[in-house]
Amino acid sequence: MKKDILILGAGYGGILSAMSAREHLSNAEANITLVNRTSNHQIITELHRLAAGNVSEKAVALPIDKLLKDKDVNVVVGEVATIDVEGKKVSLKNGSSQRYDALVLALGSETNYFGIPGLQENSLVLKSVADANRIFAHVRERIKAYAQSKNKADATFVIGGGGLTGVELIGELADELPAICSQYGVDYSDISLNLVEAMATILPMFSPELIQRAVTSLEKRGVEFLTSLPITEVKGNVVTLKDGRSITANTVVWTGGVQGNALVANCGIEVNRGRATVNAGLQSTTHPDVFLAGDCAVVFGPDGRPYPPTAQLAWQMGELVGANIAAYFRGAKLADFAPVFSGTLASLGRKDGIGSVGATGIELRGVPASLMKKASNARYLSHIHGLYTMAY
Ligand code: NAD
Repeated sequence: MKKDILILGAGYGGILSAMSAREHLSNAEANITLVNRTSNHQIITELHRLAAGNVSEKAVALPIDKLLKDKDVNVVVGEVATIDVEGKKVSLKNGSSQRYDALVLALGSETNYFGIPGLQENSLVLKSVADANRIFAHVRERIKAYAQSKNKADATFVIGGGGLTGVELIGELADELPAICSQYGVDYSDISLNLVEAMATILPMFSPELIQRAVTSLEKRGVEFLTSLPITEVKGNVVTLKDGRSITANTVVWTGGVQGNALVANCGIEVNRGRATVNAGLQSTTHPDVFLAGDCAVVFGPDGRPYPPTAQLAWQMGELVGANIAAYFRGAKLADFAPVFSGTLASLGRKDGIGSVGATGIELRGVPASLMKKASNARYLSHIHGLYTMAY
């Protein structure tokens, strides 16, 4: 009998699950439905560039229907309201519902505010195309306002969190702000661009040499680093740090961490700290008809530590999930997830970056790292056949 596959989320994990499921199951064997909040597949690894106005929206928001053209996937734009894993049914906020024989949860992660008072209410985040557009519009508005008011708070920017998201965003802003300033007749030297990090160092996944390279490159472009200084409170436009000092800034972007997706955490499958636990075949440990792809799941490596929630992992999980759903329907053995890590690349603006690539962790800095990051994005886009949907 024809099966129904329902995939929630069209990020890296979801879109690859849909493509892979269709590769392994014909239209006569399975209906595939993909539900997503927006009609676009968002290239979130490039959002920092959109947030600084350095790339067009078309380059990071690819129409899902075009990507899945000829794949016989039913695309539903809507927001998931409830997931009933016992009744095998998902309801959307528009009142409609979808039943399934196999469900893929690929709903990504959510911002973690760690309960810091005032932070959520008084900060911007960078999790979606809409967020990136909001940051860009806000930054321009603040510079424009500063040109009139000379209010220092309008010229002060705080990025909270020195992980990859925060560093990539501040690198892009450091490149783009001088031009925005000159457009409004503002002297760039009036701008205060702060990266606040709780730990002793930014980007702890890199070697001390690469971290220093990133710090020096960004400091040269006006970034000030405040490390070992967790943000403890944000009241209006006043950001308080652990040592008691405060920064008055009309722009605060919070990039301090992510957590599992609440819908997934509360749907009744087994979770570990809010992220779904999976077996080697990426099935829920409690519900074999529920498969997981991307950040809403936690996958433990051979050392017992969870892998970081990255795009490259989500992509590989999605591909395996599609194949394993076909095996599950056929009563065949599921393949084990065996991720391949190509390394980590951090962009530091238009022409600079650092990276640690390959199995041996070859270190890259400057233009080679920057080019490698662009190549990695191009490789992904060509893999999902997204290139033709864009007009640069
Ligand atoms: P993260 O959790 O990796 O980094 C958050 C940073 O915020 C940490 O350094 C943390 O110490 C700091 N922080 C936490 N609380 C703080 C506080 N109160 N005050 C100041 N700083 C605080 O989050 P992320 O950078 O958003 O990354 C999330 C995931 O996405 C990671 O797995 C990352 O590898 C991945 N990612 C990858 C890329 C890339 O490959 N280029 C880009 C972006 C994100």
